[in-house]
Amino acid sequence: MSTVTQLGPGLWQISLPFLGEHEIVGSYLLAGADDLAIIDPGPGSMREPLLASITEAGFDPEDVTHIVATHVHLDHAGAAGSLVSRMPGARVFVHSKGAPHLLDPSKVVASATRIYGDRMKLLWGDIEPVPEDRIQIIEGGDILKIAGRRLEVHYTPGHAVHHVVFFDAHSGELFAGDVAGVRLPGIDYVRPPTPPPDLDLEAWSSSIKLVKSLRPDVLYIGHFGALRNIPQHFGRLEEKLYSWGDFVLKAMREEKSEEEIIAMLIEHTKPDLLRAANDPHALERYEIATNYPMTVQGYMRYWRKKHPERL
Ligand SMILES: [Zn+2]
Repeated sequence: MSTVTQLGPGLWQISLPFLGEHEIVGSYLLAGADDLAIIDPGPGSMREPLLASITEAGFDPEDVTHIVATHVHLDHAGAAGSLVSRMPGARVFVHSKGAPHLLDPSKVVASATRIYGDRMKLLWGDIEPVPEDRIQIIEGGDILKIAGRRLEVHYTPGHAVHHVVFFDAHSGELFAGDVAGVRLPGIDYVRPPTPPPDLDLEAWSSSIKLVKSLRPDVLYIGHFGALRNIPQHFGRLEEKLYSWGDFVLKAMREEKSEEEIIAMLIEHTKPDLLRAANDPHALERYEIATNYPMTVQGYMRYWRKKHPERL
């Protein structure tokens, strides 16, 4: 399968072979007359496939000028630090609340290590800091003139407190990161990616409202590809965000352990996915994009931190 798909003039989708699976983790490549941008460069472990894909699209990776992050989670921007040395003219564009984690990835690494343990290196490869002079801070309301486009930056917390999306009002295309959840190609099923440490359901709802109000024609999501049934999709995502959250809350009130809650949530939600996918491998694929331990840890932390009165 080709790793590079042209989506339109000056726009490519790159599928990175994360854990050997295509169309789960990827990047978007935008080319203008004098500039070349990568939105969400992906994990450090996928640096070489990313560079090869840029070449396959017909460009020299050394010519990349913008590395743009929707958020700094390792599957989206883990490679940023190790890429800047290979892309001498590139600057990394990141929200002010995400920038500290690129300058010093130690907190992100510590929090990921609690989830992934000794699989860190295999999953995420090298996680290097981005030098301060290579970082460009962005905020909601900014306009990025990139690749002949005018990209509006919108602040969309919920999945992460530093999450932003990029909207091209002229073309109707919106680069959505994880604000629209996980929906893998060919499977009519959305799963809420709810990692610690800053999951915030109320903020996520506001972000969904904001994205819908922009009336985009297409969302290019992190996991994975183009999404066009936008209002219906967000309706399903929000329903799951809250119903899974309520499920975890109820189990916490029954004083179940984290391990028990993970097992219960899998039991409770698996049949739905298997019905939608009609393929047992789909469960593994969704688990690569977002996983149950992370999902439960995110909700548990959310309830303890934001709503201790409900416990
Ligand atoms: Zn992600």
